[in-house]
Amino acid sequence: STPFLSVRDLRVHFSTEDGVVKAVDGLDFDLEQGKTLGIVGESGSGKSVTNLAILGLHHKDSTAIGGEILLDGQELLTATERELERLRGNKMAMIFQDALASLSPYHTIGRQIGETYRKHTGASKKEARARSIEMLTKVGIPQPDLRVDDYPHQFSGGMRQRAMIAMSLVCNPTLLIADEPTTALDVTVQAQIMDLLKDLQQEFGTSIIFITHDLGVIADIADDVLVMYGGRCVERGTKKEVLRSPQHPYTWGLLGSMPSLDGPVDVPLSPIPGSPPSLLNPPSGCRFHPRCTFTEQVGGGRCSSEQPLLELTGGRGAACHLTSDQRSQFFADIAGSA
Ligand code: SF4
Ligand code: MG
Repeated sequence: STPFLSVRDLRVHFSTEDGVVKAVDGLDFDLEQGKTLGIVGESGSGKSVTNLAILGLHHKDSTAIGGEILLDGQELLTATERELERLRGNKMAMIFQDALASLSPYHTIGRQIGETYRKHTGASKKEARARSIEMLTKVGIPQPDLRVDDYPHQFSGGMRQRAMIAMSLVCNPTLLIADEPTTALDVTVQAQIMDLLKDLQQEFGTSIIFITHDLGVIADIADDVLVMYGGRCVERGTKKEVLRSPQHPYTWGLLGSMPSLDGPVDVPLSPIPGSPPSLLNPPSGCRFHPRCTFTEQVGGGRCSSEQPLLELTGGRGAACHLTSDQRSQFFADIAGSA
């Protein structure tokens, strides 16, 4: 089947005073209807930038975007601002970490959900209010017929996040982009929001891109996983493949930097030493080489001179010069010492 969303050789380059920042530098992926793709990486890896490109939210003057983004057969990179405006909220919607930044303090929750609905459907005020109450019910707001008239400041952080989800989903978007939507919430509320997203996906068949720096969240929600480093994809596969038998040294590092993981191998807790690469002057060869402890095993200075390609077999692969035997053996060693 043709994927619902298909991204090909995506490049997002920003012009800055200091030069060109290659925030995303050749990215490919597909997402099928009703599935969840987890995009994981440290800050500055290009995760958010990729999704702002899908939504068409970059400033056109200072940003050069190349490649192809097909959503349900429609090319987004050549779409007009008007077409994008229509798609946003209707066909694709987003939820962010900070609900307060997305909700206006001046209008009631019900008005904000209702206006989004009216804008895309032409519904009456009365219909929109009924729809707002219905959505608040779906996202588990108690007494929705009363709370619909509250202002955002009258909601708790978790409830605001739910209200934002209600607002995003009010027009049944087919693609939902969630950028660290639970990072600011406590663990219990975080779990509730994740369950809510899964339920809504079941009900509406929504495709979700879930952006996070947390592999624990990926373990909970994703079907497929894309690991990003320095503006490129370094590893791709199903959740099970990436979490149980990761093939890229960076993914090994990410696994090691998380406190615990249900199911997959437990690797000792240790943050990845060093910092994410500059995208103004990215490292030569493999962008991870200044932080990688396996360059000797590859040898010949290859890691710093030759860019490893992401070679995929059935959607599975990693961009690293280590042989597949080396990868299996080194990961077994790391996991075994846990
Ligand atoms: Fe490490 Fe070399 Fe593999 Fe890059 S290509 S991840 S530097 S071993
Ligand atoms: Mg981000």
